[in-house]
Amino acid sequence: MSRKENRIYDTVDIMSAPVDNELIQDLGDHVFAIDTLMGGYTGITSSYLIASDKPALIETGSALCAPVVIQALEHLGISRSDLATIVVTHIHLDHAGGVGDIAKAFPNAEIVVHERGARHLADPTKLVASAYRVFGDRMDTFFGPLLASDPARIKALGARDRIDLGAGRHLESFHNPGHASHHVALVDSITGDLYTGDAAGVYVPETSSIRPATPPPDFDFDLAINSIEAMKAVRPKRLLFSHFGPVDDVDIIFGQSIEQLNYWVEWVTDAHLNGLDLDHAVLLAQEKDRANNSEFFANRAVADKFEELSSTEAQVQGIWRWLETKS
Ligand SMILES: [Zn+2]
Repeated sequence: MSRKENRIYDTVDIMSAPVDNELIQDLGDHVFAIDTLMGGYTGITSSYLIASDKPALIETGSALCAPVVIQALEHLGISRSDLATIVVTHIHLDHAGGVGDIAKAFPNAEIVVHERGARHLADPTKLVASAYRVFGDRMDTFFGPLLASDPARIKALGARDRIDLGAGRHLESFHNPGHASHHVALVDSITGDLYTGDAAGVYVPETSSIRPATPPPDFDFDLAINSIEAMKAVRPKRLLFSHFGPVDDVDIIFGQSIEQLNYWVEWVTDAHLNGLDLDHAVLLAQEKDRANNSEFFANRAVADKFEELSSTEAQVQGIWRWLETKS
């Protein structure tokens, strides 16, 4: 495998990548961000640990990243019997692919996921087949297989729910579909942090840009906008993006999330109405995107890294599919 610019480890090297302070960021109030080194890149996919009385891991990263996350949890003093909860915002494999491996390593942890995702963690066959259709052979180099979890350890979240963190602290969860039907947002009762998953798009810290997160199979524009409004309504103090990192400028970033969604849906809708095929719609979106987001594209290495995480083609396909199913 060729080593790409900005990629610090080949995917095959991740198992032996040392977890040092550069991969762990102390965000205060016992919250730690863990860079999962997805695809060998730093700065694209994060897990978070709330090291409270009942320690909770939020997002696992992909299965290939599980060794990094397990090592980071050990580094942070979480023993094999300590971890109480593994919660994922949704079951896409860059967020939940490591659930099986991490649950195996931390046998007391309860696995928490929205009720629409629960059965797929118990039996990932369909989820993995669908990921192969979207990602092809990148599944083996970027994501890895999702191991099945014991259904007895899975707690399914309803529309609104609560995850106990001990000592009076908890995470409030609420269903926020749009990016995916099985997506939840999580709010920390002590810090006011909101774990956005992919519901506010992808945040690029290097350029402070928001990128779309509109992949198939169940992106829904109206639900996605409603979900951003619902997240705004809880007045979070800080946003913790799974891609990537903490953001304090909550209002500005939510504004960008809505703006980018509107742009992308407008571009793809225009292409669709004008009778373009999907390939030409992708080209059109690329052209508009470059014209609109020159700052993001000026940083070539970062643009390439995020394109690999979240390709233009996949975003256009998701919107295209939504247009076809609603018409
Ligand atoms: Zn996702």
